[in-house]
Amino acid sequence: MSDWVKSLSKVLYIDLTRKIFWVEDREDLFSKWLGGIGVAVQLYKEEVPKGVDPLAPENAIIMAVGPATGVFPMASKTIAVFKSPLNGYIAESHAGGRSAAAIRFAGYGAIVIKGASDRPVYIVIEDDKIRFRDAGTIWGMRSSETVGRVLREALPGAGMRTIMRIGRAGERLIRYANVTAETYRHFGRMGLGAVFGSKKLKALIIIGRKGFKLPDVKSFREIYKELYDLTRGSATRKYHDLGTAANVIPLDKIGALPTRNFTSGRFEGAREISGEKLAEENLARRVACVACPVACIHLAYIREEYETEKYFYKTEFIPYDYELIYALGSNLGVSDRIGLLKMIKAVEEEGLDAISTGVVLAWATEALERGIITEKETLVQLRWGDWRNYVNAIHNIVLQPNEFYRYLGLGVEEASKRYGGVDFAVAFNKVEVAGYHTGPLFHASVSIGFRHSHLDAGAYSMDEKLVASGGSIPDAEKAFEMIKEEEAWRQVLNSYTLCLFGRGVYTKELVARSLRSIGYNISEKDLLRLGEEIYMEKHRIKLEEGFNPLDMRIPRRILETPTPLGQVSEGFIKNIVSQYVEKIRKSY
Ligand code: SF4
Repeated sequence: MSDWVKSLSKVLYIDLTRKIFWVEDREDLFSKWLGGIGVAVQLYKEEVPKGVDPLAPENAIIMAVGPATGVFPMASKTIAVFKSPLNGYIAESHAGGRSAAAIRFAGYGAIVIKGASDRPVYIVIEDDKIRFRDAGTIWGMRSSETVGRVLREALPGAGMRTIMRIGRAGERLIRYANVTAETYRHFGRMGLGAVFGSKKLKALIIIGRKGFKLPDVKSFREIYKELYDLTRGSATRKYHDLGTAANVIPLDKIGALPTRNFTSGRFEGAREISGEKLAEENLARRVACVACPVACIHLAYIREEYETEKYFYKTEFIPYDYELIYALGSNLGVSDRIGLLKMIKAVEEEGLDAISTGVVLAWATEALERGIITEKETLVQLRWGDWRNYVNAIHNIVLQPNEFYRYLGLGVEEASKRYGGVDFAVAFNKVEVAGYHTGPLFHASVSIGFRHSHLDAGAYSMDEKLVASGGSIPDAEKAFEMIKEEEAWRQVLNSYTLCLFGRGVYTKELVARSLRSIGYNISEKDLLRLGEEIYMEKHRIKLEEGFNPLDMRIPRRILETPTPLGQVSEGFIKNIVSQYVEKIRKSY
């Protein structure tokens, strides 16, 4: 066992019900499963009993980092695994910022939080010292950013520090509430914020001051330099220049930019909300996660006049990304950039996942337009492009002034079942769809994915390549193999805990070589085998939890609106899903 694995193998267990904690050496897990998603899935298996309600104390929050955390460029991610309150199955969500480095420098490879507190608390982890603090004064605070500021002031001092916290959405158990880390990074999808809320856990603060020794400084330096230079090169340029917002125009051009609740793949206002226009008119600065030379996080500024004092303004910084632009922009017909930024500010303040929020509001807008619901339900007039009313509706989702908003807080699947309009409720497996209407491979991949993000298997790019090359869509068996192969490799990167924007840099050879430089005896072949095993483990757990993708509703709207590869066939998606079920079941 290498010293590196030993130093990574401490798992901190926290029981919120009894307010106790303990640490276990889990070299058994970290030596076999590397770290990140590989280890988190095993801890989930141990900690989350079958059939448990996602909002019950028995659900566990598992956060894991990996061997590359804190040492290699772009290895910035913390992998969170938990049972999702949106669909009731094992789910994962990743966030960067300083979260992963703080966990590692505090001396841990993973943290497991279980039980539930009887009153609002926040946890402070300062190396070996763990404290449970009363969160009564910050519970219910309107802005998640203010919460971050208050906590930062309450805990001065040196060290690598992360402040993860929920907004009011998490406190009120909105099923798609998120967890914010360092103001601009999020565990966005799948409702981790509601799981925090169900445990009355307002925030998790980690301060790490420990170091760790490199086994072979010379070979580490060599590979580090190579990786560092590559991460500053052409493979990541797009993320630095325009960020993921660079996707708006190319997707619109090929007809894959979801617009007005996926009724079209083209948005006449695309240029106005594009990465180019935001950079030209609104970009204030870029920031980065720890140890990342790319700095893809783009912040726009907005100025707001104080209501009581003319000519006095407060300037606020709003992070923007492609997914937010799709969900709150094109999918709601919003092309007013400042309006869009104000909508982003509202979801940031409340701690909501922007994708789910946008899809839920798009469904509500169409339902109102069709007369399925009335303004008696929506309270504000939801109209495509009317960002002011959308801002009010975003706050209403959290404030829940009536039954309609209570249903919106459960997600689009539940809301459409209650009020009608299931055909245009755009969700797979009860999770609102990410913003790539590129073709059948993307939709098939998210239907069986864990993050319900374009990053599950990156299948949007498989569609895009077919569009660019004019190639024909592969048969279902081949399509499933393509998705599986890519997702399995991503399990390796997510165990190493790389930001996936670095996937073009970190080839199999470089991942294996970098691991060898810190003492791992591992080949590319071993890595591929490991990725496949983690893939199977994850998917087996989900099927054992009762997930039956053969019964899954495929949103009609996805099938009706043509993609750049033509209309998606329901039969094709179902065939891919059948391949999936057969392969996973055979692996038992
Ligand atoms: S590319 Fe962006 S998200 Fe990824 S590590 Fe760098 S700053 Fe963070």
